[in-house]
Amino acid sequence: MTASVISAGPIPGTGRAAQGAIELRQVSKHYGDVVAVDELDLTVQPGEFVTLLGPSGSGKTTTMMMVAGFEEHTGGAILIDGKPVDTLPPRDRNLGVVFQNYALFPHMSALENVEFALRMRKVPRAERRQRAEEALDRVGLGKMGGRKPRQLSGGQQQRVALARALVFNPAALLLDEPMAALDKRLREQMQEEIKTLQKGLGISVLFVTHDQDEAMAMSDRIVVMRDGKIVQSGPPEEVYNHPMTDWVASFLGDTNLIPCTIVERNGEEAVVDLGGLGMAKVRDRGANGENYAVSIRPEHLKFRTRVSAGNGCAATLVSSTNLGATVRHRLTAGGHDLQLRELSSDSVAGIRPDEELWVGWDADKAQLLVLES
Ligand code: ADP
Ligand code: MG
Repeated sequence: MTASVISAGPIPGTGRAAQGAIELRQVSKHYGDVVAVDELDLTVQPGEFVTLLGPSGSGKTTTMMMVAGFEEHTGGAILIDGKPVDTLPPRDRNLGVVFQNYALFPHMSALENVEFALRMRKVPRAERRQRAEEALDRVGLGKMGGRKPRQLSGGQQQRVALARALVFNPAALLLDEPMAALDKRLREQMQEEIKTLQKGLGISVLFVTHDQDEAMAMSDRIVVMRDGKIVQSGPPEEVYNHPMTDWVASFLGDTNLIPCTIVERNGEEAVVDLGGLGMAKVRDRGANGENYAVSIRPEHLKFRTRVSAGNGCAATLVSSTNLGATVRHRLTAGGHDLQLRELSSDSVAGIRPDEELWVGWDADKAQLLVLES
């Protein structure tokens, strides 16, 4: 395990009260005919870590740019700590911003880059140096203040950008794909460090990523975006386990989608007809549309000895692939292709293709959703 180099703790001498609420009311951005962001309603509570998750072109960066004040919205209102900021320039919004390309000044040292944020805010010279040094210390770069960006690794440059965003004690942080340029291992380390830092400071964060694992790992709440709109939002495990549409289910990971017809809906639960797979009790979040399916994650499908009661059916094994930590089994059941994933350590040796098996799932792991595509 790699020790975190970012130290968490309250910002010395600030005694800061809870702040950093961001609110978007019906915010839109039109570029001519292009609707980049479409009447977005979104709030970030003080201290909350909210992630905008969506594919490329879904309006995440545009949303961030409007909150930061680098783009004007064409409709709606943006409030920070309850005050409209529509007419405030970026530097007066009290938000720390880190974008994908860290945009450090190449001719300035790391320390000067961090100090620059204070110079912009007219902090007296005597105070600037010390605060910049403290901020670099906080991100584990205390000894590297004299280096130019080109003398720093990608991860170190990213930390300088973070120090620069934090040095003026902003109300909230806006981070737009800040780890996109880092390799996987470093990215995971930075994820943990940013999370530790955020918790220690109690600062609110609006984060952007197109990486569902990163969103799952970091967020208090995930806001899934598509075509400039929010399609679902909630805590990570809720969005993952209870997607409202097939698009959300598939965007957040592998899933088995089994078309169904609804027999009965009783609040949180529904009884559905899965065709060849028979009748099943599933979770119902009230999604409404024309066509429905049930989503069962591959890790929630289980081999069973024989399904007498509950959800399940006979299945035939098609293939098994060992992926290291997990084994992926492909099956057919009731005319459907299904995927079942189990931990390699739990995997029962000796099942053969064409063998008839029983598979089942817990009712609370099967989600009724709307088929959009
Ligand atoms: P994301 O960050 O989710 O990848 P963006 O916010 O960058 O998405 O873009 C959302 C949509 O707005 C895209 O369709 C993009 O092409 C469009 N867009 C972004 N910036 C501009 C611009 N300056 N002019 C015209 N269209 C733009
Ligand atoms: Mg973007």
